[in-house]
Amino acid sequence: MRDRDDGRGGAGGTGRDVDRERLATAVAEARAGLAEGGIPIGAALYGADGSLLGRGHNRRVQDGDPSMHAETAAFRAAGRQRSYRGTTMVTTLSPCWYCSGLVRQFGISRVVIGEAATFHGGHDWLARHGVEVVLLDDAECTALMRAFVQDHPDVWNEDIGDE
Ligand SMILES: [Zn+2]
Repeated sequence: MRDRDDGRGGAGGTGRDVDRERLATAVAEARAGLAEGGIPIGAALYGADGSLLGRGHNRRVQDGDPSMHAETAAFRAAGRQRSYRGTTMVTTLSPCWYCSGLVRQFGISRVVIGEAATFHGGHDWLARHGVEVVLLDDAECTALMRAFVQDHPDVWNEDIGDE
């Protein structure tokens, strides 16, 4: 047992070091997506017991599927779960409305976010509705997205629905 001392206590009862370790899994997914020529956003879903349920990355470009966001990829990889109480969705980037809706629809208890500097999604809304939101403000996540948006503004604007 470790890192239960930061007062976060909430569902899953994890501390910031554990969240950082989990973020590394999401970052590895983001880098895998980038290596495939895709948008570098990664995510991982962790169970209430801390086990990794599923991981994935944005596959808009790779699959030609605009609904395959990092969070939905991780969610689908996790397969059917009886309950999402106590689960944690870890994502490299603030979740869009679509993925924020997924979090609320299934009652995912916590969301750990790498960064919200390049894109501010629905995480304030999630927090207002009782989801525990942890924003890590991670420099590596921000750098990954900044570089991608700079190199491929068209792909990024398509992803967030900006015309
Ligand atoms: Zn999304």
